[in-house]
Amino acid sequence: MNKRFRRLLITTLAAVALVLVASSLIKSPAGQAPSATPKYIFIFLADGGGTTQMEITRQYNRHIHNEGMVITDKIMKQGTLGLLTTHAGDFLSTDSAAAATAIGSGCKGNDSVLGICADGSIPKTVMEVAKEKGMRVGLVTNAAIYDASPAAFASHVKSRRNYSEILDQYLKMAPDLLLGGGRDQFLPKGQAGGRRKDEVDLIRVFVSKGYQYVSDKNELERIKQGKVLGLFSLQDMSFEIDRDKKTEPSVYDMTEAAIRLLYNGNSRGFAVFIESENVDTAGHLNDVASVIHDYREFDRAVGLAYEFYRNHPQETLILVTADHETGGLGFTQGLINFTSTAAANRVAATAEDYKRIQSIPISLRKASKILGPNPTGEAIDNLMKEYFKGFTLAPELKELIIKRHPVSRSIFYEPTTNALGMMIAHNIQAYWSTSGHTNQPVFVAALGAGAEKFRGYQDNADFGKKLKALLERKKSQ
Ligand SMILES: [Zn+2]
Repeated sequence: MNKRFRRLLITTLAAVALVLVASSLIKSPAGQAPSATPKYIFIFLADGGGTTQMEITRQYNRHIHNEGMVITDKIMKQGTLGLLTTHAGDFLSTDSAAAATAIGSGCKGNDSVLGICADGSIPKTVMEVAKEKGMRVGLVTNAAIYDASPAAFASHVKSRRNYSEILDQYLKMAPDLLLGGGRDQFLPKGQAGGRRKDEVDLIRVFVSKGYQYVSDKNELERIKQGKVLGLFSLQDMSFEIDRDKKTEPSVYDMTEAAIRLLYNGNSRGFAVFIESENVDTAGHLNDVASVIHDYREFDRAVGLAYEFYRNHPQETLILVTADHETGGLGFTQGLINFTSTAAANRVAATAEDYKRIQSIPISLRKASKILGPNPTGEAIDNLMKEYFKGFTLAPELKELIIKRHPVSRSIFYEPTTNALGMMIAHNIQAYWSTSGHTNQPVFVAALGAGAEKFRGYQDNADFGKKLKALLERKKSQ
């Protein structure tokens, strides 16, 4: 080895050592390196919210409100970014049960099955491990509280439709917080809105176990501590665009309450699952305006966790992800008419198209409700004049609504919403490739203690495995 080469080698090694030392000292906002074991864990899940749903919401925020987005500007830029596979154990495109089993328990599950691995074994869920460690746990969703995604984090059930079995397991596990819709499965048979098959008044049973019960936004705001069961609708909660802002809490409102209730007087930490199911439902209905309004509210909820992280930077882990993408949504280019494919005859989506989306005041579900099961041509024209000003409904789509003919071959079709969804898409150069789920990988953005584990391309079951491994490192109570 000659002298020059040796000097070069020593300089290079010194530089490498310097980089390694510097990277191990990367500081959190408070100036101290975060610990690897989080005390406060937020798992945010945009059901059906793929990269496209995130990106169109980011663009909408930028062009319509001149605002940024917490997920992209804060969590992704200050934290780590990864991609998760989404396929189920038995199918290439997953349902929410299989995906939530993977991310909530760390093993591949099959469609419709909750908290049971594809090989039949029963794993502990993330929430069960958190409970064992003495942490408080919470489930928050704008779906029914017994819906597949929250249920896979806190139960082990062969069919996602076994609602009473799921709720019995909740009762046994006793999460500190349950906030969402789905009062129908708590009400005894025969009571208005109740859909249980027995006479059990499950709200009363939860109260007898020490839960405080709340059913609207004001009651939720007033509660300061203790275990809470909050049921704000009979089934799914409202789309953000239709929500009664005075009485019904949003995902943001429920997240605010969750942080207050799980944090106050708690030295052992918490793990909370917070879901926007409406992003998925809006995707099934091909309702682009609802996707954006609900994703915006979801992002605001992530903003609350980000503020919490700023106050507890060494002890907090924020995870933002999805179970799958719904709808195969995107913006594209189209031809103005079928006379030519030349550039002059092409049209592409622009920021102006977001203004047209902004002008839509109701969800497509509400539009479908207004039209009813047998709409006339005149009723459809009136609906267009009142709620979809500036949009044109092609005669063939109008015909599909009147004849009750589905547009999509997916199992989630509903003729009115399908046709109206297609109408909006055609008018703004967007497209939906399905009204079902797709097999796109989903992003996982992570910030705080342990965030680096979620970097890179991974299987969705690895997400659950890594989260459980982080929790298992905690000292038991
Ligand atoms: Zn779905």
